[in-house]
Amino acid sequence: MRIPDRGASASSSRRIFLFVSLAPLRRVFLFALINFLAGCSLFEPAPVSIRFKTMGTEASLTVSGRDAAQISEAERRVKGVMARLEAELSVYRTDSVISRLNDLAGVKPLEVPPDTLSLLQLSKHYGELTDGAFDVTVGPVLRLWRFGRGQPVSVPSAQAITEKLKLVDYRQIQLTENTAFLSRSGMNVDLGGIGKGYAVDVAWEECRRLGVGSFMIDLSGNIRAYDQEGTEWRIDIRNPFDKSATVGEVLLPVGWGVASSGQYERYVEIDGRRYGHIIDPRTGYPAIGLAGVTILAPDATMADALSTSLFVMGPKAGLEVLKKTKAEAILVPDKDPIELWVTPGIQGRISVPGNIRVENLADHWN
Ligand code: AMP
Ligand code: MG
Repeated sequence: MRIPDRGASASSSRRIFLFVSLAPLRRVFLFALINFLAGCSLFEPAPVSIRFKTMGTEASLTVSGRDAAQISEAERRVKGVMARLEAELSVYRTDSVISRLNDLAGVKPLEVPPDTLSLLQLSKHYGELTDGAFDVTVGPVLRLWRFGRGQPVSVPSAQAITEKLKLVDYRQIQLTENTAFLSRSGMNVDLGGIGKGYAVDVAWEECRRLGVGSFMIDLSGNIRAYDQEGTEWRIDIRNPFDKSATVGEVLLPVGWGVASSGQYERYVEIDGRRYGHIIDPRTGYPAIGLAGVTILAPDATMADALSTSLFVMGPKAGLEVLKKTKAEAILVPDKDPIELWVTPGIQGRISVPGNIRVENLADHWN
């Protein structure tokens, strides 16, 4: 099924475009230009985009409004949230709460701060929802493949993978109201599939509490936006085959989050073959089949967790999970030329160039 390009005319009352791939100055300039062309009040300031590095990646806070003091307070709070959560959640910091929790696996429970606790609860929830396709205890297998830790010399042996898989089970994360415990020695939690979405949600709540009227937070493609007048933000959909390109745009419902997972995001290359960083916990091998998944969800944590999950589950099982939530999906199968398979709620929200086919995922699998 083809969905016509809605183009610029499909926007809501106030047009705000996000070009994720553009350099910051140009992006701000474009915001200004497009707002102007869209017939907004000449006196309405263009959104301000503040870019910064945090949690080992790039982030931005975009605010439209004229209250400079409020914008700078929002910046301070968003950066503060992300710095604090990095110190709690990063597996690359030996002193983080999660690293200490991993060190104490099979030994004793650790008292953990509220955000770490609620993120572990959410991680278990998405483990259950996806029947284990999403499993934050996949750490021992990830370490075997050495993603993000330098190049391995070979594919891990089947025996090593089988051994490490015995340690993968989100149900073995034991939580009380203020402690966490990994019940087996050697277990290892990695929150790379959900932590950024969670950080975006906490930062988003801060901005709402501060009363910021229209803003968008982007942490490495994990995005959540808001607009008190009900204007929907227009978000580019990344091309999973080419990080610098896009395959279309989608209008994000007010207050919702969006996240993408792709096999070309991060991978290791062994004997000329690419192995992606998302592991199928049933096999211990990188998930294959899809090139990319984009999820729109009521919050950024759900979008982040489900984009990783659907990448593992594939379209059919993924669709069943989506039916239990409000989330909507755009799947990009690993084939040429590019096609998008979308849930019904995406139709009418997406615009694509004329050469990209859009299929109805529900029709496809029901
Ligand atoms: P994302 O880019 O959000 O899809 O997250 C990918 C990251 O999630 C990987 O780099 C790993 O840190 C982690 N991960 C890999 N496989 C899984 C899985 N099956 N369940 C949960 N997290 C995973
Ligand atoms: Mg994710």
